[in-house]
Amino acid sequence: MLLSKIIKTLDDWCPPCDAEEFDNVGLLVGELQSEITKAVITLDITDDIIDECISVEANLIISFHPLFIVDPKTNDMDDRINKYIIRCLNDNINVYCIHTNLDNNSLGTSYQLGKILNIKNQSILINNENNKLKGIGTIGIMNRSMNDYDFLEFLKEKLNLKYLRHSKLINKKIKKIAMLSGSGSFAIDYAILKKADCFISADFKYHDFFKPNKKILIIDIGHYESERHIKETILNYLNKKIPKFACIIAKSKTNPVNYF
Ligand SMILES: [Zn+2]
Repeated sequence: MLLSKIIKTLDDWCPPCDAEEFDNVGLLVGELQSEITKAVITLDITDDIIDECISVEANLIISFHPLFIVDPKTNDMDDRINKYIIRCLNDNINVYCIHTNLDNNSLGTSYQLGKILNIKNQSILINNENNKLKGIGTIGIMNRSMNDYDFLEFLKEKLNLKYLRHSKLINKKIKKIAMLSGSGSFAIDYAILKKADCFISADFKYHDFFKPNKKILIIDIGHYESERHIKETILNYLNKKIPKFACIIAKSKTNPVNYF
C-alpha cells in the first residue's frame, strides 16, 4: 500500500492543520511514494521500537509523540533523535506522527480516555477558538456519583495504574469529570470554571496541587498512562478504513518513567 494513501486516510480523520502550533505532525521521515508492507503504532520512538519494526518487517512507524520538534532558534538536533533518524533512513522505515491533531478531535485522546471510564455526555473541555467542534480535553458525567476515595480506587483499577498523585481529598461526591490526556496543568482552571468535581490529567508540578483550593480534586495519572489507549484508537480507525492493510500495536513499552 502506498504511504500517500495511508497518510491521506489519517489526514482525513485528523487534519495536520488541527495540530497545535508547537507540534510537528505528519510525515517526518521517509517518502510519500514508499510501498508500505506493515505499520507499527507507538506512543514514542525508541531503539526498541525500531528493532521491533525491523523484526516484524514493518516499514512505517505511526507515532503519537513527534520524533522531533526542531527549535528554530537553535536548529539543534538532539543526538539521540539524530541516531533514530539515521537508523530509520538506513532501514527504509518511514515515520508519521499524529499527535495534537488527534487531541483536538472531539472523539480524540481525552474522549477515548473518558470512554474507558464510562463517562457519559462528553463535551470538549477547551474549545478551539476558530472551530467550536474541535478542542482539547473532555468533560462529562459518571452514571453514579462516588466519594473521592472510592473514585481513586476505581480509577486505579480501570486504568491499571500502579500509582497516581492527587490533591487533598475534598469530601465531596465525584460525578462530573474533566480530563485532559497528556500534560494538562494549564487546564486546571478550565475544569474549575466548568464546575467539574475532579480533573484527571498528567505532569502536575508541586505547586499545581495547591491550585484546586478545595474546589476540585485533581489527579495526575502519569503522562504515558493518560495516552497509551490512543494506540488502539488509531489501530481501530485504520482497520476500519483500510481493512487489508497490516497494522499492529508495538509490543515494546516506551514509557520513560519507571516506578519503584
Ligand atoms: Zn503526550
